Amino acid sequence: MKVAKSSRISGFHALSTEERLARVAGFCDLDKETVAQLRKYGDLDAELANRLIENVIGTISLPVGIATNMKIDGQDVLIPMATEESSVVAAVCNAGRQCYDNGGFATSSTGALMIAQVQLTQISDPQYARLQILEKEEEIKRICDACDPVLLDHGGGLQSIEVRVLTTAAEPMVVLHLVVDVKDAMGANAVNSMAEAVAPFIEQWTGGQVLLRILSNLADRRLARARAVWGLDAIGGVAVRDGIISAYQMAQADPYRATTHNKGIMNGVSAVVLATGNDTRAIEAGAHAYAVKDGQYGSLTHWEVTAQGDLAGSIELPMAVGIIGGATRLHPTAQACLKILAVDSADRLMRIIAAVGLAQNFSALKALATTGIQKGHMALHAQNIAMLAGAQGEEIARVAERMVQSETVRIDVAQQILNKLRQET
Ligand code: NAD
Repeated sequence: MKVAKSSRISGFHALSTEERLARVAGFCDLDKETVAQLRKYGDLDAELANRLIENVIGTISLPVGIATNMKIDGQDVLIPMATEESSVVAAVCNAGRQCYDNGGFATSSTGALMIAQVQLTQISDPQYARLQILEKEEEIKRICDACDPVLLDHGGGLQSIEVRVLTTAAEPMVVLHLVVDVKDAMGANAVNSMAEAVAPFIEQWTGGQVLLRILSNLADRRLARARAVWGLDAIGGVAVRDGIISAYQMAQADPYRATTHNKGIMNGVSAVVLATGNDTRAIEAGAHAYAVKDGQYGSLTHWEVTAQGDLAGSIELPMAVGIIGGATRLHPTAQACLKILAVDSADRLMRIIAAVGLAQNFSALKALATTGIQKGHMALHAQNIAMLAGAQGEEIARVAERMVQSETVRIDVAQQILNKLRQET
């Protein structure tokens, strides 16, 4: 009788990476080649990987590409981007080239203010409790700042508090916001510790019960902004400009389109966030929540015509990234990427990423409004399809080229071309 496999593996976390891999291989009947693949730790050694997350059995590598042609606040910068998707890096290079002679991108930010939330329940008089908390601002600042003397030494710490009363399906709740300057950190751990430290005092002052104590990923006090002007000649004329604006207007009017529009922006944003070891989920969550700030989910960018008739683009989005803390300091490739960017503050990194998001959106809208996205995309994607069909070495480019010529990029077509190619040689 066959014994059912059980995923209840007691003590799995306490095993070594090798022992865990052996258990997984046994459970899943993995062949030797698959196990050997998982044993290749690439740019992150097993010891470090095992410290970053739990139950590690391997790592996964992604390509890091460099976006060229980017001038940001008058400074030329090479931008490392980690992504598995073809065309993303090329899109930024193209957008950068087409506004380079116009001065490239100008950026700004609101600084590095993060919000931590403390949820207070079981309060019969929430408005009264709100004032009780607001009166304690100085004491709250003392408690929060005492949590992180290192942050304080770097000029950070609690900046202000806000207290909101929420009407919920169950009961009114009081929510305290700690607004903290986290300087060069992403700041999640920093502000979460403050929220936990202040919680017992909030209970004592109000008589309520604190439940949640955690940051908000809607980091709307930590906005990064970028703008650029693309000249009519550089982009190919009035029809291209108006096509881009029409595409933007559709995104503003239709959440189905806006979601894809913003996904394209995040192709660029998340690739730099990932390359620098930052938290992609935090940035994605913040960006999409910010896109709905006017009541309907809309575009994170704006596209307009300048007084001279050129194309003006702008972007504003939350950007909780750091250059210390989390994996940014620990991951050796993230460190290498930060060196390439030559950033000396989280603020500069925030602004660079905003410029990348705008650049990405320009190229996506331009392609969509002219030749369509598939032409450029498929030329690069054809090589992936050729490899999937079994092409190797020089065969890859030849199969890809013939597929693009035939205007059909599909795995069955790649296989036919490959077979023919092999018969010819
Ligand atoms: P961290 O705690 O590793 O580092 C931040 C600390 O570094 C500061 O608190 C400060 O003590 C110190 N520091 C040294 N030099 C500094 C400087 N110049 N500026 C600011 N601080 C300086 O990291 P973090 O940034 O607090 O937290 C980031 C991590 O938290 C990420 O890995 C993220 O994935 C994770 N996280 C995210 C969430 C979320 O987004 N919802 C929740 C929990 C944890």
